[in-house]
Amino acid sequence: MNKNTLIIGAGGVGNVVAFKCAMNIDTFGSITLASRTLSKCDSIASNVKDRTGVQMQTAKVDADSVSELVELISYIQADIVINVALPYQDLTIMDACTQTGVDYLDTANYEHPDTAKFEYKEQWERDGQFKDADIMALLGSGFDPGVTNIFCAYAQKHYFDEIHTIDILDCNDGDHGYPFATNFNPEINLREVSAKGRYWEKDHNGQGQWIETEPMEIKHIWDYPEVGAKDSYLLYHEEMESLVKHIKGLKRIRFFMTFGQSYLTHMKCLENVGMLGIKEVEHKGQKIVPMEFLATLLPDPASLGPRTKGKTNIGIFAKGIKDGKARTIYIHQISDHEKCYAEVMSQGVSYTTGVPAMIGAKLMLEGIWQGQGVYNMEEFDPDPFMEELNSQGLPWKVMELGADESREVKL
Ligand code: NDP
Repeated sequence: MNKNTLIIGAGGVGNVVAFKCAMNIDTFGSITLASRTLSKCDSIASNVKDRTGVQMQTAKVDADSVSELVELISYIQADIVINVALPYQDLTIMDACTQTGVDYLDTANYEHPDTAKFEYKEQWERDGQFKDADIMALLGSGFDPGVTNIFCAYAQKHYFDEIHTIDILDCNDGDHGYPFATNFNPEINLREVSAKGRYWEKDHNGQGQWIETEPMEIKHIWDYPEVGAKDSYLLYHEEMESLVKHIKGLKRIRFFMTFGQSYLTHMKCLENVGMLGIKEVEHKGQKIVPMEFLATLLPDPASLGPRTKGKTNIGIFAKGIKDGKARTIYIHQISDHEKCYAEVMSQGVSYTTGVPAMIGAKLMLEGIWQGQGVYNMEEFDPDPFMEELNSQGLPWKVMELGADESREVKL
């Protein structure tokens, strides 16, 4: 039966999802791309038509309005809504899905515009509504969260009886030639990296607890295959909140991301002068939010595509036991920014987010991942997702290391 797919958000990630759904048209059927600015949808649709021959529909929608969303979803009779707008819109889009009885998928957890805090609470609380409506929500089907959750589930299924420690390692070695720019939405990106760090660890009584660090307080140097040794800083990242619930025997989980010195220096200066503030300030009689104003000044992430060179390398480093013996594995995926751009006109960060969003939606539409309620990625069988990663442009590798071996570089 022909399906109707609704993609919401026409930014860097929306562009990749639109291309990849078009490349899998047998599954996605009739595709509509909707966003706040119609011209951005039209421009993506025109590029998709030129390169794939697939004609998609476009629509204007304010995704902060449940009634507008309900009207659009009903009009196109969507079978799935792929939310790649901003995390601020997660709840309104979820509510529109429960009102219309349509499956939902996103790539980032809900954030309130006025508090730089992200957690699954409000989305998990909608589990009952999704069950009552007999539909499912798949949360965090990007790369991290997303593929990193799947790597953990795959490691748990095939390599370990118990995983004791996980380090999620996110390296972007891309160079776009600007002194300072962000690879995805600047506001979301800067809120994430300027927040306090946090990781989870069990204490000597076996009680799990979150340990807070100052922003960028903990630095390790990791040796990333095909990239080399890079300074990597401990951050809080949302997939840890669901992984601590679902990975058996876990004793510690941390998340590290690479940042170059120039990025950190720019960020510190901007922070020191108040440009990362998210509360309104008055300027010449007008109210402005400094972070929003900064986002206006910075290059549009979508414009970085044609100028970004280098690679991304994201993976998980896991230690645990199998058949009573210690085991260490490293699962990672390497993407090349220029290759991503050549395929779908987006750089690697948008590509590595958009492809898993399409794969999650594909598994849902094909009935391979099914359920009623609100789910995180690792709650499903990772095998079909891992197979799709290999065939849809994100091939991965598993490295088996010596039990005590690490890829951390000690100076
Ligand atoms: P962009 O800022 O490039 O795009 C966001 C899009 O959403 C824009 O087209 C914007 O419209 C649209 N939008 C914003 N507000 C509304 C609204 N109220 N109604 C309708 N449309 C709206 O962001 P990205 O493409 O870089 O990121 C998209 C999502 O992917 C974000 O949630 C981000 O957090 C997530 N992400 C997830 C990652 C992962 O690995 N899991 C990694 C990177 C990103 P307009 O064009 O008018 O501004």
